[in-house]
This record gives sequence, structure tokens and C-alpha cells, in this order.
Amino acid sequence: MTQKFTSNVVVGLEIHTQLNTNTKLFCGCATSGSEEPNTRTCEVCLGMPGAKPVLNKKAVEYALKLCVALDCSLAKDLVFSRKSYFYPDLAKNYQITQYEMPLGMNGKLKLSDGKEIGIQRIHMEEDPASLVHPSGTHESKYVLVDYNRSGNPLCEIVTKPELSSAEEARDFMKQLTRVLNYLGVFDIDTCIIKADANVSIKESGYTRVEIKNITGFKEIERALFYEIERQKKMVEDGKEIKIETHAWNADKGVTQLLRSKESEDDYGYIIDPNLVNIEITDEMIKSARSDMPELPEEKAARYVHEFDIDKGDAIVICTDLKLASLFEKVIDEIEPVVAAKWFRKELLRVMNYNDIDSDALTINEIHIIDLLKLLVDKKISDRVGQKILEKIVVKPQMPTELVEKEGLEKVSDSGELEKHCKEAIEKNKNVVEEYKSGKVEALNFLVGQVMRATRGKADAKEVKQLLIKIVK
Ligand SMILES: [Zn+2]
Repeated sequence: MTQKFTSNVVVGLEIHTQLNTNTKLFCGCATSGSEEPNTRTCEVCLGMPGAKPVLNKKAVEYALKLCVALDCSLAKDLVFSRKSYFYPDLAKNYQITQYEMPLGMNGKLKLSDGKEIGIQRIHMEEDPASLVHPSGTHESKYVLVDYNRSGNPLCEIVTKPELSSAEEARDFMKQLTRVLNYLGVFDIDTCIIKADANVSIKESGYTRVEIKNITGFKEIERALFYEIERQKKMVEDGKEIKIETHAWNADKGVTQLLRSKESEDDYGYIIDPNLVNIEITDEMIKSARSDMPELPEEKAARYVHEFDIDKGDAIVICTDLKLASLFEKVIDEIEPVVAAKWFRKELLRVMNYNDIDSDALTINEIHIIDLLKLLVDKKISDRVGQKILEKIVVKPQMPTELVEKEGLEKVSDSGELEKHCKEAIEKNKNVVEEYKSGKVEALNFLVGQVMRATRGKADAKEVKQLLIKIVK
């Protein structure tokens, strides 16, 4: 293959994502439920003689949605092939997949910085069984096979080799997961998403090494970072990089040689005679398009256009569908620009700090609207607003009640604030002198003193103005 690359590092990804259907791709076995090994199985997914596969319509609908969302051109027919190999993870000795004619081709997906990554193909296939090595992959004397997973519906998404760093690969996985989540075809808590990566560097003349079985965003970045460095070192040491398949060992943080790379020809693909070709009709495509939800990028663009909120805030909020729908409920009553600022800067900060994701969030729009109204009406200071949010995210309660119970109303231009300012000036005469002699920052110290005396209940700006007035 003579491909011209311009970047120093070239990465292509093959991502396997499970589709969130109730039953497997070619039989009625459940995709979740009993975790007891080999209980969610039948003659079809165990490959018994004479058992015939029946295609799951829902899985086709989901795969079509994904292809449409990623702007793929679609195949005219759904054609399945057998990929033959001997390995205990497939009882039939072949995997039903798509080869000659993938469902979708030539799509695209944008990274967060706007760079477009081409999608070469998207095809459907069945998941193999899981192999359990009781004392570790290399140390175990025997292997156990659990066919519960065997036959689960997967989509394989193959990118063009257009990613040029470990960070971009991570971002691609993130953007893809976001789309899958929005489409409702993937459940982040129960569905599996895994990647194989093809990695090459300019210094070796772009000899490709494939890294298998990387799970999760962080892992993909780690694995690629390691592999890119490994390849650079090999070239520096005058060693030749060979076309090989490596496995990512997340525990040790290294890639390890699995085998020298087989080619697709070795699998002896044949069209599966048990599955009739299904025409992808205009109605099917129309229906996939009509249930297409607003995707993250479109939603963020709409927020900017419709509500005039900051683009960065919009992108962050729209990354998470649950957060975006909470935001939309809140802005029924709160100015969107104010709500966006508090969602991005404060709510996400508190959620991250407590390691709570949007699924686990127990406060709802009523709590947030109540809090933001207190802030907009200047009944509490920003600092108190932050503190309340920190409390209610952990233990939901109404901010108004909390303010009343704990006496958190803003200390305002009443005599009380002036009293605190005068006290601070009295106690810190040297600081006042510094300020008067031209050291403007000295005032911040006094503001801090007053904020402390009021337990954060004053407005820092107001305090500053008052201090300047008194000192003059
Ligand atoms: Zn089955």
C-alpha cells in the first residue's frame, strides 16, 4: 500500500461497540441478566448442528441509525459473511460478520477541535464468547469459556488512518461514545466498547503495528503513547519494526507481541448461506433519519444561536445528554447565560469533586432553579451560592430553606457591612498605609478580611467599593 502521510504519527482505529438490544444478534437469548456462566445460551449461539440464525431487527435499526448519524453511504443490501477461524470463543468455528459489503462506508466524525476524521466502514457482527484465564493470561494452565456474551450484537467502526496522536485517538473515542449515547443505541454502564489501533511512525516508513483490545478513553491514550515511544526507540536503536499484532496489557502498561499479523485473506470469508440478503429499503433509511435525535454538535450550535451562550459552555454542557436536558429545564425560568455559567463552572466542578456523574445526580431542576433565583435576585453572594451547591449535590435540599436555616442571606449595604469594613481598616492600619502609598493589591487583603468576617455572605465587589469609599 502506498499511502502518503503528512503527520509523523499515523493511527487508525477499529472500534467494537455493543448495541443496546435486549436480545442477541441471531437468537432470542438475553444480552444481560444472569451472570452465571453459560446460562444465556441456546443452540444457535452455541453453534449446534442444524441451528439456524434469525436476524434481530432492532440491531439492524440501531446500526442503520449509527451509519446515518456518521454520514455514511449505505449498502443496498444487508449481507452477512462467515469469518472462519478455530478458537474456543466461537462455537461454530466461524463468526458471522460483514466483509464484502459493510452496511456503511465513507462516513465522518469531528473531533472536539473540529478536525474531521474519515470513517472507512461500519459493519455489524456477533460478539465472540469471553475466555476466562483463572490465574492470568500467561500463567493459567487451562482456560474457561463463557458463552453468555457470544452472539451479542456489535458494530465495528473502522476509521481512516487520519488520527495523528494518542490524544486525538482518545478524543475520537469520546466523540463516538457521545454520539452512540445520544442515539440511544449504547448504554455506557452495561455495553462494552473496545478498540484495536493501527499505529505507525514516519521514522520507520509507516510500518503498521496493531494493538488489540484496548478498553476506555484513558487506556487508548496510554496504550498509544506507549507504543509510539516504543517504535521511536526501536528506530533509534537501529532495530526494524515488523508488521505485528500486539496486545495492550493495562496492568503493566505495556504492549506485548501476540502474533505476526495475519491478513484478511487468511480467514476464508464466504457469504453465510443461512441468512438471506435483506434489502435496505428507502423506508428503513427514512425511519432511521426520522428518529434521529439532535446530535451533540447540532445541539451546542443551537444553544449558541438560540440562547446566545458561550460556545465553550455550550459544548461542555452538550457533551452529556442528561446534563443538557437538565439545563433545558432550568432555562425555562432562568436566563440561559447565567444558567450556562453555573452549569459549566460550578455544577460540573462540584460533580467532579464528588465523583458524581449526571446519571447519579440526585438534585433536579427545581433545586437548581431555586438556587439560581437566589443568586439572580442578589439574595445570596456567589460564594454562598457555591457553598450551597456543594451541599445540595451531596444531599438534595431546597436552597431557600438552607439559606433560612443557616442565615446565609447576603450582608448588604446596610450598616452591618460598613461596620465590618471599618473594623478591618482599624485592625490593619499598615495595610491601609500600603494601599494609600500606591500598592493597589493591598486592598484585596482587606476585602478578604471582610469576606471572612461575614462568612462569605457579602458581595466582594460591593465590599471593595465600600472600602475604597471609607479609606478615602
Ligand atoms: Zn442464543
